[in-house]
Amino acid sequence: MIIDAHCHLDKPRFKTKMNTILQDAQKENVKGILIPSTQRKTISDAQILAHSYTGVFFSVGFHPKYADKFELEMLNEYVDDERCIAIGEFGLDYGRMSYDEAIYKPIIEQQKKVLKAHLEFALKHQKPVIIHLRDGKFAYEHRSTAYDDFMQIVQPYLGKLKGGIIHALNFDKQEYMELHKHGFYFGIGGQITFKELEALKDFVKKAPLSSLLLETDAPWLTPKKRVRPTQKVANVPAYIVDVLETLSEVLEMEKDELESIIEANTLKLFPQFEESKNSNGYSMGKVRNVKQLGAEVLREVAKDVEDVKSKETQELIDDLILTCRATQGLGIASPQIGVSKRIFIMASQPNRRYPNAPKMQPKAIINPKILSYGDEIEKDWEGCLSLPNVRGKVPRSTKIEVRYLTQDGEVVEEVLEGFLARIFQHEFDHLNGKVFIDRVESTLDVVMEREYRRIIYSE
Ligand SMILES: [Zn+2]
Ligand SMILES: [Zn+2]
Repeated sequence: MIIDAHCHLDKPRFKTKMNTILQDAQKENVKGILIPSTQRKTISDAQILAHSYTGVFFSVGFHPKYADKFELEMLNEYVDDERCIAIGEFGLDYGRMSYDEAIYKPIIEQQKKVLKAHLEFALKHQKPVIIHLRDGKFAYEHRSTAYDDFMQIVQPYLGKLKGGIIHALNFDKQEYMELHKHGFYFGIGGQITFKELEALKDFVKKAPLSSLLLETDAPWLTPKKRVRPTQKVANVPAYIVDVLETLSEVLEMEKDELESIIEANTLKLFPQFEESKNSNGYSMGKVRNVKQLGAEVLREVAKDVEDVKSKETQELIDDLILTCRATQGLGIASPQIGVSKRIFIMASQPNRRYPNAPKMQPKAIINPKILSYGDEIEKDWEGCLSLPNVRGKVPRSTKIEVRYLTQDGEVVEEVLEGFLARIFQHEFDHLNGKVFIDRVESTLDVVMEREYRRIIYSE
């Protein structure tokens, strides 16, 4: 199988064509895709894709072009996700830079600082890195190149990092061979299909076979064969076969043999792609429609789950978690996607009203019981995916004692306080056919979203 180690599948332009793109990839035996993140704006789409399709994973990081937008919070937020398998893409990009020193100097300094911050983070979390390096005419005239600067900065980290990829390699520098000894691989993409790039061909001929990976960098770097003179053709994962073909010509090797060597290389760096081997195609997305108030199922008392480990229950939980992520909800209950079962998801995140609320991976709560309620009641705002645009002030106990089953079928008993207690009670109500507006003390406590924003900011 082929794994596309660098593909920007989270680009909005791919959204409506996703199933076709993945089916086409599948036909060419491209069974794995790594989506490198570049910025905050698209990372949640990358995360959703990675949770929707077998064989798709993502990474967290800031592309050097977004170095000024760097925030450690985003890295912390995503790094523990089980589908987030690398840190990146980050690095140095000196392409298309101003020649005015007053302009380029601070930009380069910023990029270097952010590069170091990412390396520190990767060291701490022991995840492979995805490195973007690019030079322009600028670099040669100023005698400072991204390639040299990177080598200097990465030096103290070598041997301590979990390795990584030098992505879209397009130069021939002997020192870079050294990196492979420290777990780095070289991402070879569409550039090799262009005659002009002799340096890259020279490099791959010298590089050990065990150091090569394949990538598209789609939608960019469309291989030569696919380029049309009058029309822009976006690169897609299926076109990676052109890269493999050219590489096998350059190396004078059988394509199949090269494919299996590169597969082994990729699995060494990212063993998570083992799951692609056994899958017969990318399983398709399962974000479900959220039922709106008025649907009967929201008013029914849901039934206990009898077999937590059954395929049916596990799939339902996966769908709930995915739908919760896709809608950016803090929780979702099974009846909300039309299945009258006693399961809900909790996905607390810090927010303006609860800055200390824990940031948690969505967690399934099955057959829950509230064992006791604390005496203290607090009125605070709630919203619900089934009542979009409506907010209400709902009185809830600030402390509850609960018992439930986890996704693995383990019994948990715990005390929840504050925001977590509120989410639990809100979702628990859904299992009993209740919604939050049933709980308000007065209809005067119900407002519309737009006014709610005004109210909370003046509170
Ligand atoms: Zn990229
Ligand atoms: Zn709700």
